[in-house]
Amino acid sequence: MPTYEYECQTCGHQFETRQSMKDPHLTDCPVEACAGPVKRKIGLGSGLIFKGSGFYITDYRSDSYKAAAKKDSAASSTSSTPAAAPSTPAPPKPSGA
Ligand SMILES: [Zn+2]
Repeated sequence: MPTYEYECQTCGHQFETRQSMKDPHLTDCPVEACAGPVKRKIGLGSGLIFKGSGFYITDYRSDSYKAAAKKDSAASSTSSTPAAAPSTPAPPKPSGA
């Protein structure tokens, strides 16, 4: 789980929090007496990695890559078989319990 660094725009309080990429970014200062707007510090730690990887993924989707991915998905869909149910019968339930 990535760690994000924030800095309060009002009182200058700096803190870091661990949150999922899917979680919304914090917007309020954790100092109750302040509660000012906070700004996420970009370019430090995982923030830079996240930004870079996103660009890389977008750039990686060339025509050849999509063709290969399409070919691969088609092949896997035909070769993959659904998991067969085990042939062993269920044990009989005890009656009269
Ligand atoms: Zn603050």
